Formats: sequence, C-alpha cells, structure tokens
Amino acid sequence: MSTTTTESVEDDRLIVWFDIDNTLYSASSRISHAMGRRIHAYFVQLGHTHEEASELHLRYYIQYGLAIRGLVRHHDIDPLDFDRQCDGSLPLEDMIKFNPKTHKLLEDIDRTKVRVWALTNAYRPHAQRVLRILQLEDLIEGLVFCDYEMEDFVCKPEPEFYQLAMKKAGITDPSKCYFVDDNRANIDGAWAQGWSKCAHFCERGLEAMEGGRIKEIEKERAVGAAEEEKGVEIITDLEDLRVLWPEIFKK
Ligand SMILES: [Mg+2]
Repeated sequence: MSTTTTESVEDDRLIVWFDIDNTLYSASSRISHAMGRRIHAYFVQLGHTHEEASELHLRYYIQYGLAIRGLVRHHDIDPLDFDRQCDGSLPLEDMIKFNPKTHKLLEDIDRTKVRVWALTNAYRPHAQRVLRILQLEDLIEGLVFCDYEMEDFVCKPEPEFYQLAMKKAGITDPSKCYFVDDNRANIDGAWAQGWSKCAHFCERGLEAMEGGRIKEIEKERAVGAAEEEKGVEIITDLEDLRVLWPEIFKK
C-alpha cells in the first residue's frame, strides 16, 4: 500500500459518544427546568403573552428539536444573545458538582480501544462550562456541539448531525459508534445512522419529579422508529454501562 506523509490513517478505535445535559449529571439538578424558564422569559421579552410563549416554546421544540431554531427562523433573533440570556445565565456552579462516580466511570474506559467524545445540542460555552464544573474535561477527547452561529445549524436527532459528528471524529464506519443519551428521539436518530450500541439513560427516581410536557416528549419514541432494536438498551444508572458494554472498560 502506498502512503504519503500527508495521508492520515483512520483511528480504528471504537468511539463512545456521551450526551452532556441530564446524562453526565443528574436531571435532579433541575437545570433543564431553569433553562425552560429562561427560554419562556425570552419569548415574553419578544412581546408574547405567557400563553403564546408556552405554545411557541413547545411547538418549536417538537418541530425543530430546539426552541432556538424556531426563534432564529421565525423571530429573527440573535442566537448568541439568546445563548447568553438562557444557557449563559444559569448558575451552574450552584447546580452541579464534581461526581467521583462519573469521573471514575470515564477513567475506567480503556483508551487503547476506545475514544470518548461528547455530543450535545447545547452551544460550545455551555458544554465546556458543564464539563469544567464536572471536572471531566480531560476525560472527554472531543466535543461536537450545536453551532448557533451557523445559519441553519443542525442538531440531534437529525441525520446530518450524527454524520457531522463522525466527520469531526474522523470515522467512516458507524458501527464503531456507541451512544448514551437521556432523550429517546436522539437514541433513535443514532440507531437509524447505524450506530451499533445505544443506551437510553432513564435515570432512576426521576418519575417522581415533574418534568412537564417537554420531559414527557423526551421519553417518547420517534415516529416510525424501528421495532427491532437489539442494540438499544435502557439503563437507569451510568454504572450499568460496565455490565452492558464490558468490552469498552479496562480489564
Ligand atoms: Mg440530554
């Protein structure tokens, strides 16, 4: 085989993608609730009544996966201003903290066989801030985020977003991808792309917490999702991954 020095060899390790929000920290932190309140206030600030704000928020979430995409498309807002006012204003340092168990879990993944990346629908500043507070920055090798600055940016569960993620990680074989997310539609999206092992994180004890309609939607199956899903598993604790995917951990 002839190779030149500029030709790069594909990294043939597996890659485990972790969602960030409500996956790498507990949803009991109520960050999504606080985020939702800020997004609602943003709609109100644009001149909508509380009723319209709730309706538009939900509609854009269902239609576009993220409220901000509807806001950019239909209200001509500045996405960076939105990000500053919503995610940027969250007192994250008071809401989440270092979790030794999650840290150890990522540390125990065998890096000779596996790469660990994050795949989030948040914009970069929020994602980096969360990883910094959780002290997971050094254990996450790559970050694929939603680029709010790009016109018509894509997000999970759109096929293009998973394809973009693979491109960024420099892999062409989707069967090398493992994925953990608390949002069922995101799992179905990854599965549809041929990502071989997918774990839907349904945190234990969350049923007692009211999450509102958006939380309910996150648990629902995507319309037309494949019935046969040998690779899709439900986990209630990230520790379950040790049993589910022993091949990715150090012996
Ligand atoms: Mg999430």
